[in-house]
Amino acid sequence: MAGSDTADEIAALCYEHYRTKLPRQGQPNPSKEWTLMAAVIQVESAAGKTDGKKVVAMGTGTKCIGQSKLRKTGDILQDSHAEIIARRSFQRYLLHQLSLALSRSQDCVLVPGNDPNKWTLKPGVCFMFFTSHTPCGDASIIPMLPLEDQLCPTSTAASEATPLFTTTNKRKTTACDSPTAHKRMKPDGSSQETGRKTESCEESADFTPEATDVFRTGAKCIPGEAQDRYNPGLDYHTVGVLRVKPGRGDRTISMSCSDKMARWNVLGCQGALLMHFLQQPIYLTSVVVGKCPFSLQSMERALHSRCRNVSGLPEVFLVHKPQIQQSHLQFQHGRDALKEAKRAGKLVPCGAAISWCAVPHQPLDVTANGYRQGTTKKAIGTPQSRSRICKVELFHIFRQLVESLSEEQLPHSLRDLQTYCEYKEAALSYQEAWRRLREQVFTSWIRTSRDYLNFS
Ligand SMILES: [Zn+2]
Repeated sequence: MAGSDTADEIAALCYEHYRTKLPRQGQPNPSKEWTLMAAVIQVESAAGKTDGKKVVAMGTGTKCIGQSKLRKTGDILQDSHAEIIARRSFQRYLLHQLSLALSRSQDCVLVPGNDPNKWTLKPGVCFMFFTSHTPCGDASIIPMLPLEDQLCPTSTAASEATPLFTTTNKRKTTACDSPTAHKRMKPDGSSQETGRKTESCEESADFTPEATDVFRTGAKCIPGEAQDRYNPGLDYHTVGVLRVKPGRGDRTISMSCSDKMARWNVLGCQGALLMHFLQQPIYLTSVVVGKCPFSLQSMERALHSRCRNVSGLPEVFLVHKPQIQQSHLQFQHGRDALKEAKRAGKLVPCGAAISWCAVPHQPLDVTANGYRQGTTKKAIGTPQSRSRICKVELFHIFRQLVESLSEEQLPHSLRDLQTYCEYKEAALSYQEAWRRLREQVFTSWIRTSRDYLNFS
């Protein structure tokens, strides 16, 4: 399968879905606003041939609420970056699929697993992730090359439109990493991936001057961790460390999208609750990024290679390496696509977030500031103010499912539980995998305090 063709096909599929399935309400006004978009694509292959690719979850959004706005009732969306909205929408989709499986529907991606009351993905089904932009945080620290060097020679048709900042060769890798002697990462020797890099600029490597600077991320290092040095040029950022989401004013305590996606590559992206019913976690087979500043090396470092030595994971968990690819196609409402508004200096991030997933009832959800769009101050806390993908709503869907089960259908791990926190903590192998990952790599991860998880 030609990597670049697939990446473009996935991007085109997502852009088409965005244009035709998402409401104008919640989309940016392109004369002054931009947004980010991410999606989960379900791929079904039958008898060796891949067909049936469809978007099953999508998210847009650029904002993250500050610490002072957090609530103990689970009814606000803390993190509305597109990747996170897409992942929560995907969890809602999976909950619906689980309900189909439990009612023995044939038209469902889950089939009975080996253990009683556990389910597994139907053979031939997998999930890909698309994001219109490089995730915030570590993956966004990208070597910046002198402009004339950023265009690759065109050895193949695919490379003609290679995005400007693609840097995948070893030499640039070293150039980008060596000045940061304090960094915690070794350059990633991902030689097994050479087969995937056919569209990259490898052939031009020997003629490439060194990177002179890095693209910067607004995501700050976690206090107590290795910090950025802010020296000019390449030594501005420390790479491979945990960061919190960028934001002005009221500080957020949400981890950057790079960090959260790295966690999905170890724990799966289904979350703790669904693990009560799954034989194994659901990993993303590939991550496709739209046209934007991008570095394969930074992506691999941020999304999986910094976790590669994690040991002692419970059976079924592993450090999964998704295939990472970039498309040549640009998102129509991204910051870089809106050149005119950008030139006029009036471009701002869109405040709304849209969630969509492939469920039969009310698949759409538009929020602003963590609540359903249009919520007045007085209405905060009412059921009408809640997003369909906030913690408490997803928990209620899950609990209703559990309550509908007969005694024989109920997994052992789900007996005598009350609060959201208890349901999550009872997913023992998931929690064990998370503990290993935290102990060995993500030691400073900012966890949500239990006070904020004790709702039911
Ligand atoms: Zn982000």
